[in-house]
Amino acid sequence: MPIYDYRCESCGKPFAARHGFNDPAPACPHCGEVSVKRIIVSAPAVAGGLLTNAGDSRRASKEQLQDKWAEETPKLRKKLVDKLGEDFVNKNAPTLNTKFE
Ligand SMILES: [Zn+2]
Repeated sequence: MPIYDYRCESCGKPFAARHGFNDPAPACPHCGEVSVKRIIVSAPAVAGGLLTNAGDSRRASKEQLQDKWAEETPKLRKKLVDKLGEDFVNKNAPTLNTKFE
């Protein structure tokens, strides 16, 4: 399953969660808040987020991360374009364009 980055709207802390694309957002692991926002990130930011989760049992190797990214990015990009438009995606998530087209 892909890993998504979220930011809690209550305590403001970022966290990563692994779940299916169409599953609902998870609750904040820090305070239990269910109002969390998915963050649109680049591949390096995803890697950084994983690395900062020390003690997280879901840690992935760099290779696993790249595989996941390659697998999920086209799907994520399509969804974003459908929802937000080509211009928004080009401006806010250029990484989604450059690597896998
Ligand atoms: Zn929180």
